[in-house]
Amino acid sequence: MEKKSIWYRIKDFFGFNKMSPYEKAFHRDANIRSTFFMALIIIVLESWMIIRFIKKYVLTGQYATFELFFKYSKNYWLLLFIGVFMLIYSALYTYNKISRSPYISTGLTIMFTGVCAYFGWKVSESDFSKGRMILCFLTMILYAACLLIWRPYISIIMLSVIGITYINYLDVYGVDLEGNHKGVLEADMINYATFFISLIAVVVSIYHQRHSEARKSAKLIKASITDDLTGIPNAKEFAEKAEILISTSDPSKLIYLFFNIANFRTYNDHMGYAKGNELMIKLAEGFSKVFEKDVYGRMSDDHFMALTRIEGFEDRIEQMRQILKKESTDELYLELKVGGYRPTENSDPRSDIDRARYAVHSISHHADKTYIEYDKKMHDGFHLRQYILNNIDKAIREDYIKVYYQPVVWSDDKKLCGCEALARWVDPEVGFLSPGAFIPILEECRQINKLDLCIYEKVCKDLRGKLDNGEKIFPVSLNFSRLDFELMDAVSELEKLVEKYRIPKEYLHVEITESALTDETGGLKSAMETLHEKGYSIWLDDFGSGYSSLNVLKDYDFDVLKIDMVFLKNYENESIKENARKIIGTILDLACALNMKTLTEGVESEEAARFLTEKGCGRLQGYFYGKPMTFEDVYKAIDGGKLTISDEIL
Ligand code: C2E
Ligand code: MG
Ligand code: MG
Repeated sequence: MEKKSIWYRIKDFFGFNKMSPYEKAFHRDANIRSTFFMALIIIVLESWMIIRFIKKYVLTGQYATFELFFKYSKNYWLLLFIGVFMLIYSALYTYNKISRSPYISTGLTIMFTGVCAYFGWKVSESDFSKGRMILCFLTMILYAACLLIWRPYISIIMLSVIGITYINYLDVYGVDLEGNHKGVLEADMINYATFFISLIAVVVSIYHQRHSEARKSAKLIKASITDDLTGIPNAKEFAEKAEILISTSDPSKLIYLFFNIANFRTYNDHMGYAKGNELMIKLAEGFSKVFEKDVYGRMSDDHFMALTRIEGFEDRIEQMRQILKKESTDELYLELKVGGYRPTENSDPRSDIDRARYAVHSISHHADKTYIEYDKKMHDGFHLRQYILNNIDKAIREDYIKVYYQPVVWSDDKKLCGCEALARWVDPEVGFLSPGAFIPILEECRQINKLDLCIYEKVCKDLRGKLDNGEKIFPVSLNFSRLDFELMDAVSELEKLVEKYRIPKEYLHVEITESALTDETGGLKSAMETLHEKGYSIWLDDFGSGYSSLNVLKDYDFDVLKIDMVFLKNYENESIKENARKIIGTILDLACALNMKTLTEGVESEEAARFLTEKGCGRLQGYFYGKPMTFEDVYKAIDGGKLTISDEIL
């Protein structure tokens, strides 16, 4: 902790040091709360006075007319009115129902203090003349100094001036009931002086107690609204400040910018975590300079945001780019990707931020794009995404999720050796959704396991139905996402279903996509071992569509290799055909050498099928043999003789 100088401490003791706006507001609010109680005291006191006055003078007939009654009781009424006014004002202020202008509240507090002091002065003057203690004055001073806490130097000046002036005033001008001059007794003088000195001590000590509370709570508030690492506003604070800016200025002149640093993860890996943090701090400093006049903040990780004026916003992005560029090295190029969103009249900052984030994510894999603005097309995508995430549970519950089955045939006799289960979402509101629309979103938001579990159960149910009917069934391959193994105990979930529906294990195959294997995950490897031990066949899906195909073959133990349909794309084109044949041929040889069975996806023509059969690819899947269809349609095709279930299933 930073050490404070003696001079600073002295100034702090007397309250000369600058306070943060928060600390000032803390003191102001506390004073207004005290005002509420003082107003209550005044109301009770004045009501009592009025009742007493009525009993003593009105009921006895002394001030029977309204004029007389009002003339002699007007001070009570005035004070009562002020008390009620201050009570209402302080209650409204405390509950945030009126303007919390510091000028108005401080002005009213000072005015009320003056009224109380004046009232005390007047009553005590008359008490003094009757030879009584000046209690009212002392009470009011207690209020002005103890309930309302001023900076110590103000309290000291105020109490000294009031104390000395008043006691001297009484000493010089004080009279008894007959109007003869009457000084203050020396013994009383000492009492009063002691009182004022003690009061000053109490007041200063209350001030410091309250001030340390204000500091503590200012620290807590600061911690909750600033980013731990960089000290700039965090996501919550950014949204709040953005909301204020939008509501107090013309939104059509503003734009949200969401910043993401491409390659930051690699930077962290290469340079180390501490360097990564340093980079974040430098960038945050950059934001506080470049967007000094705007609202900005760090959302999380390498994500920053700004709400800035449209005028010249490109320059500001460029300045941030230059700051980042300085940190790039020859081997590690850091690029700033920015997504923009122009807010509208009733924009909600939270969804505006999501839109700008959505925009920047849409270019995260496009090396050539560094800025994109949220547009109509993106808007549709964004809404679909929200819809999917908000409705996945309902879709599962209401049976909008359907399983389609795509036939897989043996290449030698073209008999059906199985089907691949493919998810479809048939939604009453948005219509038919293909997996390409919802699977990546569910994966990104870690909800894919819900869908997969639903598909596995539906498949088991379908197969059980046919088994119960005494009909022949075919094996079904199930798609597993890498996340399924992280988000749930995929193996035991599958086992539970297999037991519940009593499905022979050779009728369920597990398909794992090649891209799932790029991150080395020990968990996945051991899950695959367990699946093998339990008797499931494991297929490597989409082989050749990723980057690490060969590594995958070395590191993992698969039974069947599914060659991705990219190799058969445009197979009818002569110039492509030759190369496609060579590549597929080589992959098939490789699989054979590794003792793996093979399947090629995307077979759309007889010619492709013939080639694959000649080359020894064991299984074929593609539109040529059947598009994905409902379970009933597969059986219709079987009944109609278009497909024949093979006796051989493995
Ligand atoms: P995939 O597992 O590689 O599935 C094959 C995809 O290729 C299917 O697309 C299928 O309709 C399509 N296809 C099959 N034959 C042909 C053909 O001859 N020509 C062409 N052009 N396409 C063909 P679909 O059903 O749209 O599925 C896309 C991807 O979505 C799947 O690729 C799979 O990765 C994923 N997916 C589908 N259902 C599920 C599921 O239940 N769970 C998980 N985790 N992923 C699923
Ligand atoms: Mg698949
Ligand atoms: Mg595939």
